[in-house]
Amino acid sequence: MKSDDRPHGLERRLVAIVLACLLLPTLTVGWIGYSEAYHSITSEKIQNVGIVADARHDALVTILQRTRARGAAFLSDVNNSCHGGDGALSAACLTDAMQSFTKTERALGAVLHISKTGRDLVTGASEVRFDDWKPFQSGQLARFSEPNVGNDRTYDVVIEDYRLGLWLAVTFPVSLIQGLFTNSPYLGQSGETFLSDASGFFITKGRYPSAQGTSHPISAHPMQACLAMDDREILDQDYRDVAVIHGFRFVPEIGGGCIMAHIDQAEAFAPLRTLQWRMATLTLLFIAVATMASLAIGHNIAKPLVNLTQAIREIINGNYDARVDVTGSREITNLAESFNRMAARLQLTLGELREQKACLEDRVKERTAELETANRRLAALSMIDGLTGLANRRQLDEVLESEWRRAARQCLPLALVMADVDLFKDFNDHYGHQAGDECLRRVASVLAEHTQRAGELATRYGGEEFAIILPGVDLVSASSWAEEVRQAVIDLAIPHELSKTGIVTLCLGVSCLIPDASSKVSNLISEADKALYQAKRGGRNQVVGMCLDRSCRPRPVLVQNSNRSVPALGQPCKPRSWYS
Ligand code: GH3
Ligand code: MG
Ligand code: MG
Repeated sequence: MKSDDRPHGLERRLVAIVLACLLLPTLTVGWIGYSEAYHSITSEKIQNVGIVADARHDALVTILQRTRARGAAFLSDVNNSCHGGDGALSAACLTDAMQSFTKTERALGAVLHISKTGRDLVTGASEVRFDDWKPFQSGQLARFSEPNVGNDRTYDVVIEDYRLGLWLAVTFPVSLIQGLFTNSPYLGQSGETFLSDASGFFITKGRYPSAQGTSHPISAHPMQACLAMDDREILDQDYRDVAVIHGFRFVPEIGGGCIMAHIDQAEAFAPLRTLQWRMATLTLLFIAVATMASLAIGHNIAKPLVNLTQAIREIINGNYDARVDVTGSREITNLAESFNRMAARLQLTLGELREQKACLEDRVKERTAELETANRRLAALSMIDGLTGLANRRQLDEVLESEWRRAARQCLPLALVMADVDLFKDFNDHYGHQAGDECLRRVASVLAEHTQRAGELATRYGGEEFAIILPGVDLVSASSWAEEVRQAVIDLAIPHELSKTGIVTLCLGVSCLIPDASSKVSNLISEADKALYQAKRGGRNQVVGMCLDRSCRPRPVLVQNSNRSVPALGQPCKPRSWYS
């Protein structure tokens, strides 16, 4: 069976095709939708982290700028309000103002350097001194203290007013800006923001405990990228080695440092997990439904086709009763009905053809039988003499030949009698040819009557001569038979005025022998002919038997006309005419 013929092969291919048609476009569209949703959610979460980092940076810069603005306003105020009577600034007034200012600003301390006197007025816990101070870089607003394990870090904001000749340094605790780096709703439950210095140490406190950033710098790659002034949002591990979304901004306003915003990827991308789970569930559900639909479609289409194929095969094998079920969709039903009608029509036509064939065969048989009969008649006619109804010369030759061989095989005698109507020319001349023909028919009927035994055959040899085959008969019996015939013709008493007897008579010459290797059929005929000639010469109306001895020398044999005292074969005999 070929693969195309297997019932399940077609069904499997149909299922595969339908399944592919259902799944490929649907899964492609689903995948595109999922990809879009994935990128949308991912980029939104990443963007949110960047937004938080930007907001923290802006807030920090704003705080520092406002602090500087208030410091500048302070310097202007004290310059106006703390001049003593000598025009110089009053140290007591300045100190009071500084104490009030630091308290208002919740600073740890402050240092006011007066250029004219070169003095530093110190209030609170500030460690800064004008002479030791390294100037800020361009755009720098504050400077943070070095990390000091166990102690909170501080930062200094410096305001210079060269016109007034005043220089103010205010020291703040980092806790003052710690509030800026509280968590944001954008960063979920796991998120955090913090500020680091240019070495990668925490300035504000990190949310999670870690050695990185406290005892040694944060070595995570995003921190290194940030400190290299590469503001970005990336996915990487944080100082805890946890996968997070990083949003980082370099902070030149503090002389170098970073604002980092984090959210754990597990939390940020949790909606993606939900989306993936739903997509997987829907995909599996759709595949199951599509598979069932494909199986149903494949089965419904393949089964009728397979049935149709089997029915066609049965018809090819000669079973014209094969039909298919007319069930299924309209197209399948139409196809099945058309096939059944075609099969029925074929069956009908074949039945008609069979009947016609049988009829034709009967007619052929009939015609063949008729032909055979006609042929037999024709063959018989070709062997029969038309005038007398006896066998003709051809049949004589055939029968004589076969009887000759049979006699030789069985070592039996075979006799031949030649008969000739006496003075028949005269008869014709006297009575006419029609009377002559009638005479011949009557003589022939006598011969026919006397050749009734099996193997005996009377033939018309030619003209008014006849030849008679007598198988298994010796010369005595054959001569006796000839004598009976001669007498029977006499008994017919056909008038023949030109004959001495006044009636039609016969001369009969008889020959007989047992065929052997030295003898021939022609010997038998010629000897009978000689005997006949002998009878003619003997005066007609007589029988002469020609006896053939083993040396094949013929001798005439005397034939009695009634008592059949005929000499035996090979005995000397004397010709005798019965005519007189
Ligand atoms: P013989 O006693 O010596 O036999 O004399 P015959 O007259 O009988 O012999 P012949 O041979 O002289 O004549 C034979 C005649 O037989 C000659 C012919 O007209 C006649 N004959 C031969 N065939 C037919 C035939 O079919 N019909 C008729 N009516 N006559 C025939
Ligand atoms: Mg003759
Ligand atoms: Mg004759």
